[in-house]
Amino acid sequence: MAELSVRSVLVTGANRGLGLGFVQHFLRMPKPPQWIFATCRDPKGQRELQNLAYKHSNLLQCVGPAEVANPTSIKEAAAKVREHLGDSGLNLLINNAGMVRSKMLDAETLEDMTETYMTNTVGPLLMGQAFLPLLKKAAAMVNISSIGGSIASLFAWDIMQVTSYRCSKAALNMLSKCQSLAYKEHGILCVALHPGWVQTDLGPPVTVDGSVKGMLKVLSSLSEKDTGAFLDWEGKVIPW
Ligand code: NDP
Repeated sequence: MAELSVRSVLVTGANRGLGLGFVQHFLRMPKPPQWIFATCRDPKGQRELQNLAYKHSNLLQCVGPAEVANPTSIKEAAAKVREHLGDSGLNLLINNAGMVRSKMLDAETLEDMTETYMTNTVGPLLMGQAFLPLLKKAAAMVNISSIGGSIASLFAWDIMQVTSYRCSKAALNMLSKCQSLAYKEHGILCVALHPGWVQTDLGPPVTVDGSVKGMLKVLSSLSEKDTGAFLDWEGKVIPW
């Protein structure tokens, strides 16, 4: 299968976990993107990403948005990306940043529900809106979702209830479907991807490397007909 080839990509939450994994994979490609925009909350404190940016002139860090659900910071980030790309547009937007509060249903609070929804659902909505003008050229938008948001599967309920997380990802799945319908006329392919249960700060057993490699392979195989799908890192369809 042909390897994914993109001219420009933006990854949110790129300082650690899967986000950093995506950046490392893009940099290692035989034909790396001309521009990789890596966003994180505290660029100065993120040594690994900073070291990569020193070594690779195509990796641009520090473009924000600081908070994925902050409209002002997202608009500033979009303006900065536009300055770099000019008329060429952004090919791939990966809404990866996400959070989880490991709690039982009874312990969930207004703050947990709100903060998790803002980060995991509203963030990707605002990112899509702000970057739409840049994405309008044969582009794709990927929302990193979770099988935890699948109502049909209710994956691992016995060991983790994480209701605020499940609700935010179920809503993200619906958002992905809505984006796929609304952005179809612009030729933008939108998908929700479950990365597997990955060894990062959010949990164990697929490796970051294996998950990212798998997701990029899945992305390289997608076409127009797949827009609006909810797939895992191996390309399997996940029930809503
Ligand atoms: P990590 O916890 O390792 O990294 C999360 C990233 O998101 C960090 O860069 C973090 O920034 C950033 N982030 C969190 N909240 C915000 C915010 N409000 N604004 C900006 N950035 C924010 O997570 P993973 O790499 O494991 O997860 C990445 C994505 O994959 C998430 O969407 C997650 O839900 C999803 N996923 C992960 C699974 C897993 O097994 N790991 C399974 C299923 C889905 P900072 O360093 O500043 O906190």
